[in-house]
Amino acid sequence: MLFENHLEFAKAADAADKLAPMRAQFLFPNHNGKEFIYLCGNSLGLQPKVAREVLQKQLDNWQNHAVEGWFEGETPWMFYHKELKRLMAPIVGASPTEVCPMNTLTVNLHLLLVSFYRPNANRFKIIMEAGAFPSDQYALESQVRFHGFDPKEAIIEVKPREGEFTLHTEDILDVIALHGDQTALVLFGGINYFTGQLFDMAAITKAGQSQGAKVGFDLAHAAGNVPLSLHDWGVDFACWCSYKYQNAGPGGISGIFVHEKHFSDETLPRFAGWWGYKEANRFAMQKGFIPEFGADGWQISCTQVMPMALYHASLTLFEKVGFMPALREKSLKLSAYLRYVIEDVNETLGYKQFQIITPIDDAERGAQISIIAKNDGKKYFDALVANQILGDWREPNVIRLSPVPLYNSYEDVYKTGVVLKNLAQKSHDTL
Ligand SMILES: *Cc1c(COP(=O)(O)O)cnc(C)c1O
Repeated sequence: MLFENHLEFAKAADAADKLAPMRAQFLFPNHNGKEFIYLCGNSLGLQPKVAREVLQKQLDNWQNHAVEGWFEGETPWMFYHKELKRLMAPIVGASPTEVCPMNTLTVNLHLLLVSFYRPNANRFKIIMEAGAFPSDQYALESQVRFHGFDPKEAIIEVKPREGEFTLHTEDILDVIALHGDQTALVLFGGINYFTGQLFDMAAITKAGQSQGAKVGFDLAHAAGNVPLSLHDWGVDFACWCSYKYQNAGPGGISGIFVHEKHFSDETLPRFAGWWGYKEANRFAMQKGFIPEFGADGWQISCTQVMPMALYHASLTLFEKVGFMPALREKSLKLSAYLRYVIEDVNETLGYKQFQIITPIDDAERGAQISIIAKNDGKKYFDALVANQILGDWREPNVIRLSPVPLYNSYEDVYKTGVVLKNLAQKSHDTL
């Protein structure tokens, strides 16, 4: 696609966009009658219009069936998660048996580490990306300490090269090889939340496992954003939240993936609860935990129906567009267009007001573009907000903008460029 930085181009691109009608399925923030251009779906996705109806239906079920709702009504809660499993599987590239909705993300990360981080005196290290999301850092440090090891020795961070922001795959693979048989676990974000870098999960999985380590991914910024093939890549485990690119609402339910190769391993430790018990006999209430087959065996507590209803509402929209291929096709174009309009500001000024730190390569990015705004960058962010454009600001100087293919348009991106250009021009004139 050849881009042009004017409104007619953006309008024409929207008119030709097969996904454009999906925008009408979402509710946009609105202040004093002015609707926001929302570029923050990497942090909290927008509310699908259908969410209210789906939630209301479950409130009605609760009213009408009360406790009998577990087995009665249109969607008996006892089996409600199965419909979600069917819809989650294509998002992460797994079989429905390998995925399960439950809990929240960091909680699930801990539960999966119980099964897949099993250090011993010789093999205790965890390899992860430097600058991972803090919750993941805290979770891993506390797990390492829990097993009696020192995070300073056990946690190996792969850092960017001097003067760079993102990682080279070869550097990740070198670190994995270097720590080889001391490595118990390789745990990476699928996409780094700060830089927006999409990692080569297939290569990382292969490298970690060839050293005898388990390999897992936190897909908070990847699930619902980029196509994933967790099963085919042979990833051991993964977890994600549903409230970023998957629009399931604040604090929404998390999803887990456990590769089927682990289902028959009875030596895997896990923290158990009644909902992970064999479904057919769950209510026999017997002593002695027997896990349900598949990812469901990692459940602990009873189904969180209301958050699952919200996740379900959003997943049906993914189903409507045929899941990830069409979304990815548009997403790559939209984020490339955002890049283009930002570079156009730099060109107009004749210097780099904005430095884009997200990789250019399609294989290394999702929907998010992270920008370092030089010379008082916060004022650019504030100007965006004052013009009803919502991205987010990360200290010390990064603006993250995420055009989401389900509900953002080329016109959104064009208008964002106009605001940045006007302000940059004004600042330039007063220099
Ligand atoms: C958003 C995000 C989280 C948030 O965790 P919660 O437990 O849902 O609060 C964790 N890890 C990563 C990588 C994230 O991007």
